[in-house]
Parts: sequence; structure tokens; C-alpha cells
Amino acid sequence: MSTVKIRDIRVINTNPAGANLTVVKVETTEPGLYGLGCATFTYRYKAVTSVVLDYLKPLLVGRDVANIEDLWNMMNANAYWRNGSIANNAVSGVDMALWDIKGKMANMPLYDLLGGKSREGVAVYRHADGRTYDEVVENVQKFMEQGVRHIRVQFGGYGGKASGLNTPPNSPEGVYYCPDQYMENTVKIIDYVRSKLGYGIELLHDSHERMSPINAVRLAKDLEKYHLFFLEDILSPEQEEWFRMVRQQCTTPIAIGELFNNPREWDTLISQRLIDFIRVHISDIGGITPARKLAIFAEQFGVRTAWHGPGDVSPVGHAANIHLDLNAHNFGIQEWSGFTEQSMEVFPGSPELRNGYVYANDKPGLGIDIDEKLAAKYPCDDSVTRWTQTRLPDGTYNNP
Ligand code: MG
Repeated sequence: MSTVKIRDIRVINTNPAGANLTVVKVETTEPGLYGLGCATFTYRYKAVTSVVLDYLKPLLVGRDVANIEDLWNMMNANAYWRNGSIANNAVSGVDMALWDIKGKMANMPLYDLLGGKSREGVAVYRHADGRTYDEVVENVQKFMEQGVRHIRVQFGGYGGKASGLNTPPNSPEGVYYCPDQYMENTVKIIDYVRSKLGYGIELLHDSHERMSPINAVRLAKDLEKYHLFFLEDILSPEQEEWFRMVRQQCTTPIAIGELFNNPREWDTLISQRLIDFIRVHISDIGGITPARKLAIFAEQFGVRTAWHGPGDVSPVGHAANIHLDLNAHNFGIQEWSGFTEQSMEVFPGSPELRNGYVYANDKPGLGIDIDEKLAAKYPCDDSVTRWTQTRLPDGTYNNP
């Protein structure tokens, strides 16, 4: 038992790169000793802030920083009703900060606390898109020239450039998506990239849970011959049973998980070997404590990790991803959205991409800090979220 206690818990909201980011700072009774954690739920950041300040802070101030396992379980069930993105992100902010503090107290980087490195650098995948097929190929080549060997290929984002749709008059505004056009374009662009660049690079694709289940099975079959590294989110979490049919039909490697926030969403998929990569959003499942357990669980079944790594994870969250990646034997790949200059100024010590691999710095804990004065210069965006207002050609709402 340590004599170091939680003295205060604060929340810092900032938006240095076009996405609302939430960072929790846990301050201790030891002068100068604090930890940072990612609690970023971009589109509901005020709700997460309230859970941290109004509910977790009164629960935790005065408690020993040492017992992360106990504190995590208590935070998780303190409201009796548990799970969900708002609650889990709030818990994650505190959980990651406690691991950061533990690393600083031990004078070890987090990967060392977890058991040391399984590799020196973390292989990442980048996102290539374009207005034409040739522009997509050029963008893939740009990443290859930077040493990146895994590239996600999209054509027109997740919607496949819907055009010429016959939509009923007075249909609501929204982001219109045509499943048939999307599927056709996707097979064509993957075929085109393979025909131009061959099979010496790893290609990935993300369907963003938009297709009907039987179309998901068909796309996985149609893409089988192109040997993807993985095909991501072809089904929504509500339609998981269909993964069994995908497995029976083809060998396209399957990845899912960024929307998961309840262990019941992944336990069957992993233990019945229905997926190949688990790619949860670490803060959305409650932080480092549940993520390391999930990685170890997945390892028993030959499922690899591919943690979600978009722009709406704070650099603190990316640092947590990288430390877990460095340690886990069953690490598969890390999604990498990259940081703007402003983000790196707000978050000194952010992980760095060099020649296709990301490296954590070797400072104790997560190795990352926040410049609060600078963070305050980038206020959060409170406008209504528009890109999630996806619709089918007849105007029906569809998952984004
Ligand atoms: Mg995705």
C-alpha cells in the first residue's frame, strides 16, 4: 500500500485538430505527481465531463492511487447500471491516469509495467482515398514511400461516392449512401490497386457497418481473392450472428470492435474464432485495465489486436494504444491517423511515426503531457453532428 492519495481530478476539453478531445488529469498528494487519461467521446464530451467531475471525483478523492484494479471495478459498478460509451469513457480517463501515475512511481514506461516489449516499433496502417482510382493509387504509393506497408483503401469515404440517386421529394437532408454503388466501387478500387501495385503490400478496407447482413457476406466473398489484411466492420454490433455465415463462406480476415462497450459484444466472437482482429476503442471499453485483459483473452484464441486509432482519440489515448501494442504478443496492427502540429504542441511527448513504425518515448508512465494553457486556445465544437445522418436512396435512415 502506498501513501500517495488522489487529491483532485480535473477534466481538460480541447479541439486542436478538428475533433473534441477529453483528457482527465488525476492529481495526487505527492507534489508534482499526476497522471493523464483519455476520456474522448467526441460527440458527447459534456456528458463524459459531468460523469468524471460530478460522480467519479467525489467517489475517488482521498483514495490510494495504487489499487487500480479495485478502483476500476468500483468505478464500473458504482452507478449500479454500467457500460455504455459515456460511463466507460469517464472510467477510462481515470484508469489511464492511474496507470500513468503507477509508471511514474515505478520509474518505468507503461509497456515495461505490462511485461516489457514484444517489439521495438508498432506497425501502423494509414488511410488512402481519392477522387479517382488513379488518385487512390497515388495516395497509396505516397504512404509506401514513407515506409508504411499496410494501407486502408477507400473510394469516396465509407459511402462509395453515391451519385444519380432517385430519392423521393421532401426526403430529409443527410449523407446519402447507395449500397449497390458502394459495393461495386469497392471491389473495383481494390482490384485496380492490386493490378497497379501487386500483392507486395497489405490492403485493408472499412465498410463502417453500413451494409445489410447478406450484402456483407457477399462483399467478403467478392474480396476474398484480393487477400486483404482485414475487412473491417462489415456488420453492425447488433448483427454479430451473421459473422458465422461469413466464416463459412470465405477466408477474408475479419476485424470489428470500435463500437463495442460491453464484454458480451466480443466474448463469443473471439472464443468461437469468428473474427481475426479485435479493434475496440480503448477509452470506450473503460481504459487500459479492461484492454489488457481483452488482449490476453484474445491471444488464447488466435485473435490479434488492432485498436481503433482515429483522430477522435486524444494523443494520450494513442500513447496508451502504443504501449499496449509494444507489449502484447498478439498485436496485429495499429490504425494511425497522425497528429497535426497543433496537437503535438498541446500534447508534448506524443508517440512518433518513423518509417512505417510508431515509437513511444521511454519516459515513465504514458510518457505524454498536456500544455493546459495552449489546450484552452482550442475550444470544443458544440454543433449538431451531421456526418452520422446517413440515409439510403429511398430516404430511410441507415447506420453511419
Ligand atoms: Mg473503422
